[in-house]
Amino acid sequence: MSILVVGSVFFDSLQTPHGTVERTLGGAATYFSVAASFFAPVRMVATVGEDFPQEEIDFLTERKVDLSGLEIRPGRTGSWKGRYHDDMNQRDTLDLDLGVFSDFKPQLGDDHKKAQYVFLANIDPRLQESVLDQLAAPGIIGCDTMNHWIAEARPELERLLGRVGLLVINDEEARQLSGETNIVRAARRLLKLGPKRILIKRGEYGVIQFSADSVFAVPAFPLEVVFDPTGAGDTFAGGLMGEIARSGALTEATLRRAIVYGSVMASFVVEDFGLGRLRTLTKEDIQKRFRQFVSLTDINPA
Ligand code: AMP
Repeated sequence: MSILVVGSVFFDSLQTPHGTVERTLGGAATYFSVAASFFAPVRMVATVGEDFPQEEIDFLTERKVDLSGLEIRPGRTGSWKGRYHDDMNQRDTLDLDLGVFSDFKPQLGDDHKKAQYVFLANIDPRLQESVLDQLAAPGIIGCDTMNHWIAEARPELERLLGRVGLLVINDEEARQLSGETNIVRAARRLLKLGPKRILIKRGEYGVIQFSADSVFAVPAFPLEVVFDPTGAGDTFAGGLMGEIARSGALTEATLRRAIVYGSVMASFVVEDFGLGRLRTLTKEDIQKRFRQFVSLTDINPA
């Protein structure tokens, strides 16, 4: 079962306490697609400029990411420059040049419209909704958002949330959107907006998922060095949706496994700059860390 993702494909210039990198491939849709591609076929809908390198097209194609929805337009690919503090939960945007992404209007082809597994990465909620309007018979829809849209487009975002099943959001955004500081109360509020499940990302503390009748939490994988946290949330979402699509059903057991796979993928991506670690990752690496993850919270070891 293939997954459709709509979002940004950017070049990132990154400064972390461990070093700097200039114009490496990034963007939410990119992280999501590469992570999800380890689990299921992915179709990406995004836009880049004519400066987008053929070698990155080749890389995504080799990862079996369908790029028929990647529009190449005259102009520049979007770029983002960010600097992380010593506490890498904190970062500053130093520069943002949206390039051709500034007038991105997602257009789905006939194959895209039939998608059953859809992830709306962080873009204007009006555009996210326009994607839903184009789908023939949407199945499982996940979405992300950010502080900017919560502040600037709250009514549109709330309308969108009435139409999505899974909201993947970080703790700060969950507090901002719900108006509640306690994360449990925040999740309860957000469930009332429509999504059946709220997945709250808490950086180095892991992920906690709330539905009307269940709560499930996993820690983050304990790593000695977090090299670059860029894209960890999108990579988590890629592993999560990838495993849901691979399983073909959204049961409680599937979802719990998918949350662990999402956490596994996020734990890899932070080990190197940008997509570096995902470029060399193998399915065996993923399975090994999945087992380590499970034993991390095993209260009945053999
Ligand atoms: P995350 O670390 O999960 O917040 O995702 C970071 C990715 O989002 C980077 O690879 C950036 O290229 C991309 N990004 C940064 N700003 C924006 C924006 N305004 N719209 C869409 N994507 C962005």
